[in-house]
Amino acid sequence: MNLLQKLPKIDKLLSMSCFEGLNVELLTSIARAYVDELRSDILSNKITSLDENAITDEILRIYKEKTSSSLQPLINATGVIIHTNLGRCPLSEEIFEKAKKISCGYSNLEFDMKSGKRGERYEHVRKQLCALLDVEDVLVVNNNASAVFLVLNSLAKGKNAIVSRGELVEIGGNFRIPDVMRQSGVKLKEVGTTNKTKLSDYENSIGKKTALLMKVHRSNFSQSGFTQTTSYEELIALAKKKDLIDYIDVGGAYVESLPKSISDVELDLKQILKLKPSLVSFSGDKLLGSVQCGIIVGKKKLIKKLKQNQLLRMLRVDKITLCLLEETIKAYLEGKTELLPLFELLRRDEEKLKQICLDVQKLLPKNSCEVVKTSSFVGGGTMPDKLLPSYALYIKGDAKTLQEKFRKAGIIGRIDKERFLCDVKSIQEKELAEFSEKLKELV
Ligand SMILES: *Cc1c(COP(=O)(O)O)cnc(C)c1O
Repeated sequence: MNLLQKLPKIDKLLSMSCFEGLNVELLTSIARAYVDELRSDILSNKITSLDENAITDEILRIYKEKTSSSLQPLINATGVIIHTNLGRCPLSEEIFEKAKKISCGYSNLEFDMKSGKRGERYEHVRKQLCALLDVEDVLVVNNNASAVFLVLNSLAKGKNAIVSRGELVEIGGNFRIPDVMRQSGVKLKEVGTTNKTKLSDYENSIGKKTALLMKVHRSNFSQSGFTQTTSYEELIALAKKKDLIDYIDVGGAYVESLPKSISDVELDLKQILKLKPSLVSFSGDKLLGSVQCGIIVGKKKLIKKLKQNQLLRMLRVDKITLCLLEETIKAYLEGKTELLPLFELLRRDEEKLKQICLDVQKLLPKNSCEVVKTSSFVGGGTMPDKLLPSYALYIKGDAKTLQEKFRKAGIIGRIDKERFLCDVKSIQEKELAEFSEKLKELV
């Protein structure tokens, strides 16, 4: 029982100089909880001695754990450029700078400058996106998942939508097309087989309750062998003939011309839009190279219906998103896509990547690493079977141990055939100095 009397009094404990300047309310609650825990450990004989320094250290540790930022910058040395777990697309500081003034002050977010009355939030990027993509109208929501939900819920609720069995995909993080349809109140009508869906399959399933023909980009998987899909052109023509809506979820289509290795396999958004589809939606932070959002483009009268849905209020985008997106689209319109880090990364050729590795290697101890030719995915649910050539530093040593050690230092690499690799394909030019510095300390 002697030990119980030795437990520090909370008031006295908190007046110690090591706690100065900290949030008293939070500190008190942490200290109380910890001292209570010690008390019950003493009573159950789990501990037999007390050390005041250890007690204050532990309270400080808990306090730090609860109050320090959880988000931290990382160096992406996985080689995967659009890495969903690492925040997808990096943004340029120049674009961020332009958006800073709007984000940090008041703006005309929902204020009409001509009339001085309430304005429309969704007007802002509309003009620029219409100009860039040559479409009738645009609506921007939180992400592409919400775009899919909003389109289905607004235009096909209580009716059915026809989708190919080969396109009932699951995108990372439990976004499953059949589930999304059900939750949006739309009956899914699957047609075709896993590997083959013909135009006649769609045509034969159209009934009185059909509202929409949907196509989903396979994004994260591919099929080979005995396969057949219906082209966008055919599907759009069929929808028009039957007076139905066609809707294409293209996932991460691209707008800017990309190196041939990528453009050969991914969807060119402008080509699809030339076919005049009813509606198309895509992500802002995949191959567009911008901020997280979902962009819906297409026929004005359909977008108007989307805007009338109460649900839009729940999916609405913040001003920070809108101004970052607006600045990105402006960069496209002005032909300044070099401002977007995504393109800086995608456009570097093998020679350049090799040179980067050699330059870093020079700074490191001899025999600590090797420069190796490798390949990596673009990522972000784009180009499932396309590997882009790359170069990496193969760091010698036990791969698992190194991976963990590097992770703790803020560098995320990957293991390939039991080798720990730092792939430079996904490291921006401006991060290279920091990357080299960290490597020098780590190897
Ligand atoms: C990535 C993707 C989505 C989800 O987009 P988010 O912007 O991540 O919400 C939906 N559909 C397809 C085909 C995709 O590739």
